[in-house]
Amino acid sequence: MGRVALVGAGPGDPGLLTVRGRELLAGADVVVLDRLGTAQLLPYIRSGARLVDAGKAPGRQALTQAETNRTLVELAREGLNVVRLKGGDPFVFGRGGEEAMALREAGIPYEVVPGITSSIAAPAYAGIPVTHRAVATSFTVVTGHEDPTKDGDQTDWGILAKVPGTLVVLMGMGRLRGIADALIAGGRPADQPAAAVQWGTTPRQRQVVATLETLPDAVADAGLGNPAVVVIGDVAGLAGQVGWLGDRPLSGRRVVVTRARAQASGLSADLARLGAEVVELPVIRIAPIAGSPEIDAMTAGIRDYRMLVLTSVNGVEQLFARLRERGGDARSIDPDALVVAIGPATAEALEAHGVVPGLVPERFVAEGILEALAGRDLAGMPVLVARAREARAELVDGLRAMGARVDEVALYETLAEAPSAEDLDRARDADYLTFTASSTVRRFVDLLGDGGAASAGRGRVVSIGPITSATARELDLEVHVEAAEHTVPGLLEALLADAAGA
Ligand code: SAH
Repeated sequence: MGRVALVGAGPGDPGLLTVRGRELLAGADVVVLDRLGTAQLLPYIRSGARLVDAGKAPGRQALTQAETNRTLVELAREGLNVVRLKGGDPFVFGRGGEEAMALREAGIPYEVVPGITSSIAAPAYAGIPVTHRAVATSFTVVTGHEDPTKDGDQTDWGILAKVPGTLVVLMGMGRLRGIADALIAGGRPADQPAAAVQWGTTPRQRQVVATLETLPDAVADAGLGNPAVVVIGDVAGLAGQVGWLGDRPLSGRRVVVTRARAQASGLSADLARLGAEVVELPVIRIAPIAGSPEIDAMTAGIRDYRMLVLTSVNGVEQLFARLRERGGDARSIDPDALVVAIGPATAEALEAHGVVPGLVPERFVAEGILEALAGRDLAGMPVLVARAREARAELVDGLRAMGARVDEVALYETLAEAPSAEDLDRARDADYLTFTASSTVRRFVDLLGDGGAASAGRGRVVSIGPITSATARELDLEVHVEAAEHTVPGLLEALLADAAGA
């Protein structure tokens, strides 16, 4: 018998997932999610876990609540570890209670992991404390989903108007005018501060602060829609004093990350924390090459290499994966061999596998390695260069010219991804386009189609280093910013400096 965890995903910022929630996602066999409100957590789900979308998928209706309940029961009966991931808190307008009751009835063991609810978090990210000494000593959270003009409405706006303190309305955007009118009719002052926060805690957060009377028009003028939290009460007037989100260095800037999905999350999270609206536009993906005669020969004879050159984190991960499959690990490598890493991230990845590189050239490009090796006697030396299938020839040619006997082994390849037209349009309207490798530049320009680089949009192009920049220029893509240190943190630093100057 499996088990089910009802897990709150938090309001949108992935940093607001609980530690327990993250643990459960990392161990889940299957995750049942509503795409809206949970997509940001996909990177935390164990790779290989099955995803079941209970929300609306394109061209298909959402599962009904009864179908969702049944799905949870069936999956658990298959003996699976099931995580039911729900936006915000599972018990705040999340129907988590119904799912728990269905599980209890079916005799399935379950656990509930509360989440940070948008009703508190979205105001907080807008600088609105839901309670504040001497301003509001209570807050009430209601759904605005019900029609305030209809009889039989379960929400009594007349009573709510008289409850002192802050009123937080979820799902109320579609009926905002009716709600405001009903509250004013019930006695709430028309000039009481009120705010709406859309996409709270996410990089797309937008908000307006007005009064109860003017909020519906202000929201319409600003084009705010669902999902949004409406806050009514004097605390909404504190947004100007308590607000903090708009002060971040990349606030209001849209930044495109073109890295492979599996590698994008670190950069995306850093950008989002700095206030950027991040558009993940993975244009490539990394596909391991699990078997080839070269790989078999390399793993069998790895101890014979006197020098091993690793050019990327992917290369390191794949090398050790292949070694492990054959019962090997760091100890399979000759301890006296020289291990060379291009770039600090590659060096770190090696160290994580227990291999301290003997050489990390100052310039993180093939030419940097050749320079660093100049003067050494490589004549007849067996050298392994482990890397991507489509890598540049300079390094291997250079080593051979120095007399080395080089085995070049492809451990992975980069394949094209096909982002949606919608994401591509969002990218064209971005402030920055970031590129961490030549392969991503090439594929991005490919995706632009007939317009070529000229149709890349208005974004400033940020490149990780000279090789990536050269590829961009070859394809007529102007490079505005090049990182001085050719690492992802270096790229971020260069982008920040540019944004501060612009
Ligand atoms: N269980 C969720 C609420 C689900 S009801 C929670 O605890 O947050 C869905 C409603 O929540 C939306 O219509 C909207 O009113 C609100 N909501 C969810 N995420 C939001 C966000 N990031 N920003 C603003 N409102 C959000």
